[in-house]
This record gives sequence, C-alpha cells and structure tokens, in this order.
Amino acid sequence: MTDKKGLIFIISGPSGAGKTTVIRRLLLEMPGLRQCITYTTRAQRPEERDGIDHYFVDEPAFTHLIEDNRLAEWAEINGYRYGTPRAGIDALTTAGKNAVIDIDIQGAAAIKAIYPEAVSIFIKPPSIDVLRERLGMRGETDRLDERLQRVTLEMQQAPRYDYVVVNDMLERAIDAVKAIIGKAEASVRPPGR
Ligand code: ADP
Ligand code: 5GP
Repeated sequence: MTDKKGLIFIISGPSGAGKTTVIRRLLLEMPGLRQCITYTTRAQRPEERDGIDHYFVDEPAFTHLIEDNRLAEWAEINGYRYGTPRAGIDALTTAGKNAVIDIDIQGAAAIKAIYPEAVSIFIKPPSIDVLRERLGMRGETDRLDERLQRVTLEMQQAPRYDYVVVNDMLERAIDAVKAIIGKAEASVRPPGR
C-alpha cells in the first residue's frame, strides 16, 4: 500500500490507429505504469495472451460479469462485448500504480464520468488510407468495412479528449504520450516530494 494513488490514463482511437503498439512501449519504458486488462468475448488472436492482452471469456461468462456488477463499463464493439473490471482499475491505483486503459469512445466517456481526474488521450491515424493499410498488415480483413464505418464516428469524438496524438511516426507518437503522462505525474507529484 502507498498513500499516493495512481493516475488513470485512457487511450482511445480507431482500430489500427496504433494503441496497442504505443501502450506496449509505454509499459516497457515507464516504470509504475500498468495496463488495466479488459474482458472481451472476441476470439484470441494468435499473438495474444489471455490475461495479458485481454481476459478472453465466452458470452455467458461476460453476462455474469455484468450481473455481478464487476464491470465499471462495457460496450459492444464490432459484434463483440468488451468491459473494464472495476477491481482492475482500483487495485492498480490504490497500489500507487498508474493505470492505462485501452477503451473505445463510449468506454472513455463512462470511465471519465466515474473517475473525472482520468487523463484521456486519443490516438489518431494520419489518414483513413493509412489506417486501412495497417489493418490489412495485421491480416484484419474480418469485418473491415464495419470497422472502417466506425472510424468516422470515433474520429468525431477526438476533440472531447484531453489530448490528441497523431500516430504518424511511431517514435514521435510514443514520445508525445510519454510527455503527457510525465506532465500529469509532475502535476500531482512535484519533483522532490
Ligand atoms: P490498435 O491497437 O490501435 O488497433 P495496433 O497497435 O495493433 O493498433 O497497430 C495496427 C498495425 O499498425 C500494427 O501492425 C502495427 O505494427 C502498425 N503500426 C502502429 N503504429 C504504426 C506507425 N506509426 N507506423 C506504421 N505502422 C504502425
Ligand atoms: P481489440 O479487439 O482490438 O482489442 O479492441 C477493439 C476495441 O475495443 C478498441 O477500440 C479498444 O479500445 C476497445 N476496448 C477494449 N477493451 C474495452 C473495454 O473494456 N471497454 C470498452 N468500452 N472498449 C474496449
């Protein structure tokens, strides 16, 4: 336990914008930052690990999580359900860790309503064409049209976020997010205290 509560960082952006790539690097390079792992009913991708990328559960198990009030928020995205465990966020922040959560625009609004002090960051692709290319690179032709339809809607929400970072050059985007996190930390924990 620590008397200093951790901060919450919400990261959103269209699928393929680079959220996972950016977050993986942040976790490697920022001590004290941990990801709040969310539940999903979608199938696990080959490179993913259960409990690290998501908790992968079936539909009945997800319904139980809702009924047991264990989710701070949940949303249906591209035909699958995703939800943030209440206990996941609280365990991290009370242990003094900063929590990063990769959630969609609805989830971001819900988390901000519960935790108004959370810092929200929108990762924007340089263009829709680049986004399409990145999803193709990842082999995601599944529901591609549906995913791209969501993009316009999601992009319209960008101004509601505390920060918008364009992920054109990866290193620059990572540095920008690190600077945002560093600034938020410094505002609650001035150096030398
Ligand atoms: P998201 O988590 O937002 O869906 P990912 O992080 O999985 O997106 O990135 C989608 C794809 O784009 C991956 O193949 C990733 O390697 C690639 N990618 C991410 N950022 C960049 C970048 N700045 N330049 C080129 N490719 C990128
Ligand atoms: P993916 O399937 O690529 O992991 O995630 C698809 C979308 O779901 C992304 O926009 C991601 O931010 C969002 N997402 C992941 N977990 C959650 C969650 O628990 N709640 C909400 N609202 N969105 C989530």
